[in-house]
Amino acid sequence: MTARYVRVAVPRPIDDFFHYQVPEKLVGQVEPGSVVVVPFGKRSLTGVVVGMADSSPVKTRNLLAITDIPPLDPGLMELARWTSRYYQTPFGLVLRMLLPPKTQGAGIKFRLTRDGKQALETGECPFPGVLEALGRGPRTSKYLENRVKDREVEDALAGGLIETVLRLPFGSTDSPPGPGYTRSEKQITTLTEHQSNTLENLTRAIEKQSFSVTLLKGVAGSGKTEVYLRAARSALEAGRGVLLLVPEIALTPLLTSRLNTVAPGGVAVLHSGLNPGERRGAWEAVRRGQLRLVVGVRSGVFAPIPNLGLLIVDEEHDPSYRQEETPSYNARDVAVKRGQMEGIPVLLGSATPSLESFRNTETGRYQLSILPERATPSPDPVIEVINMADPKETKSTHPFLSARLLTELDETLKRGEQSILFLNRRGFAPFLLCPECNYTMTCPNCSVTLTFHRSRGMLCHYCGNLQDPPSRCPSCKGNRIAPVGTGIQRVEDALQSALPGTVVERLDRDVLDKRGALETIYMRMDSGEIQVLVGTQILAKGHDFPGVTLVGILNAEQALDFPDFRASERTFQLITQVSGRAGRGEKRGMVLVQSYAPGHYAVAAALAHDYEAFYRAETTVRQELGYPPFRRLGRVIVDGTDEQKVQKTTMNLVRRIHLPGKTRILGPSPAPLPKIQNRHRWHFLLLADTHGQLTTILSALRSDPPPGIRIHVRVDPHNLM
Ligand code: ADP
Ligand code: ZN
Repeated sequence: MTARYVRVAVPRPIDDFFHYQVPEKLVGQVEPGSVVVVPFGKRSLTGVVVGMADSSPVKTRNLLAITDIPPLDPGLMELARWTSRYYQTPFGLVLRMLLPPKTQGAGIKFRLTRDGKQALETGECPFPGVLEALGRGPRTSKYLENRVKDREVEDALAGGLIETVLRLPFGSTDSPPGPGYTRSEKQITTLTEHQSNTLENLTRAIEKQSFSVTLLKGVAGSGKTEVYLRAARSALEAGRGVLLLVPEIALTPLLTSRLNTVAPGGVAVLHSGLNPGERRGAWEAVRRGQLRLVVGVRSGVFAPIPNLGLLIVDEEHDPSYRQEETPSYNARDVAVKRGQMEGIPVLLGSATPSLESFRNTETGRYQLSILPERATPSPDPVIEVINMADPKETKSTHPFLSARLLTELDETLKRGEQSILFLNRRGFAPFLLCPECNYTMTCPNCSVTLTFHRSRGMLCHYCGNLQDPPSRCPSCKGNRIAPVGTGIQRVEDALQSALPGTVVERLDRDVLDKRGALETIYMRMDSGEIQVLVGTQILAKGHDFPGVTLVGILNAEQALDFPDFRASERTFQLITQVSGRAGRGEKRGMVLVQSYAPGHYAVAAALAHDYEAFYRAETTVRQELGYPPFRRLGRVIVDGTDEQKVQKTTMNLVRRIHLPGKTRILGPSPAPLPKIQNRHRWHFLLLADTHGQLTTILSALRSDPPPGIRIHVRVDPHNLM
């Protein structure tokens, strides 16, 4: 291409493209998708060429350089464009997710492939230098750099004679030998009838290369993962790539080792726990088609997999697929779009499908497959609710541990079995309160109370502000200021004093910060050393502990306290997911659900294992209120340091809206979290009949905020705080 000008998208929260002139020596070398360096204001940015032109409507600056990053795939660029339009989120920032992770000079290692070894032995060697250098084992790129030409390394890679060594976490093929976490897997010889029906349909769709979306609904342990594995295998055998999205990779180490059994060549794991070199290495191997089975978290939906044949989204209801910050998107829905664009089947799995997905099976957009029971016959857990409003349950010194739960914990310990207790609140206590003057300690930057963390101090969960806990009330100088409410650390303490001599451990985000901590806890659970494990949401996800026979949920309807129309759905999902952790082995499990609202339909339906009952009750409410999945929701957040200006801007925005048809505005009002990081926040919601109506309104609101003010537009938001 000999065009003299290019249009470039830059990674900035703006919608416009910028024109640049192609310098003489680079003419013919740029094409759409090229990753280039351009001057931008006083600095330079890495951007993506989105179009070519023979002239420019405006005066332009010169393109600075073309990077060595291979041009982006046109199909993925199209997906990025769709994402940007659909979510009304800046294209340049979506495109950035398509670029390889930065290497920052970290050491990727190279080694010989089987072909490479053969070539070295037979001496039929186009790149003797490279192969000899690697003859004694893997070497870093730095080592090679000093001995052979970069070009030769590139060619040897492309020719399949050498490959990058990926140090994948958790016992996958390339992980270094060491105390990795594994568990022996039994061979599954026959699928259940439900599993094989689902699999047959998928295999047919993979062969035909036709787009379809299947919602696979099955309780924990019903064999969904087994279906993913076999479907992945048939796609790989047909020479195609497979993408599996999971909410959190680090929490499901065994998944990676199970995946290794279907892809002996290796599994690419894309997540932020890898160091930059590992990430870049994995990304490169995926792009070259060397690793065709790819597991990723939400941003993995943009992974550059050539010849994709199957897309799987595990736990499709999980809120972590939704990225709330700019560029905002929902990876599950982008995955469905990618499947449609590439003409391939998409499989969504969950024990508690989102209302949106289940509704799509009713309207015929998605197909429904159900795995009605556990794959290995194990007795259903007994599930019971404990009414926390009953004073005889809460007479103990720890009012958040019911008498019934303490008794059952004791019994379980006596039988030599394990328990897990779940409370979705980090820290020791959600706030400090002075009973004399009612002072509570709030974050200086955000409108929230500081959470009391036992070892760290008073922590803001929104901006990270950390302060020492005061010994006297800063306001009235009284000395009775004390933590109020219950976080998971307090539960841990309470159990240690209520059950002396018991090995109690805690698993939450704060524990995970330490590398290897998770593996250690899993191994100590498997060996039976840990007797009681307490934890937050992390316990609800993924991993199963076969030795656990008692599960306690401390505050089942905690989510119901939030001003969020999905609160009931979250409550139902959480109770169901956590209950699924009980009795995964041969012994019968017991689930005790402590509740202040035992009559709430979300709690009742979860206790009865009745998804359909919940779905019917919840859809009735949503339909009456005109909420998703019946109508489309949008949210506009305005923030800035000047509160009055924020309010005025919001009011002006609302005044500008022309509401078509039955579109409604809720608000404007200060956001439920009226201040974060010293920025005041106002918001309003929009409910429209169609996505088109919503984006028409929203796109008009995004432009030209007054100085110092930011306008954030969200399509299909989850977080309404
Ligand atoms: P899910 O993903 O729905 O939680 P899994 O696929 O992990 O379920 O299966 C749960 C357990 O049942 C696993 O230990 C798995 O090995 C076993 N399993 C799955 N399918 C079968 C089958 N057809 N026959 C015997 N065991 C099975
Ligand atoms: Zn804060």
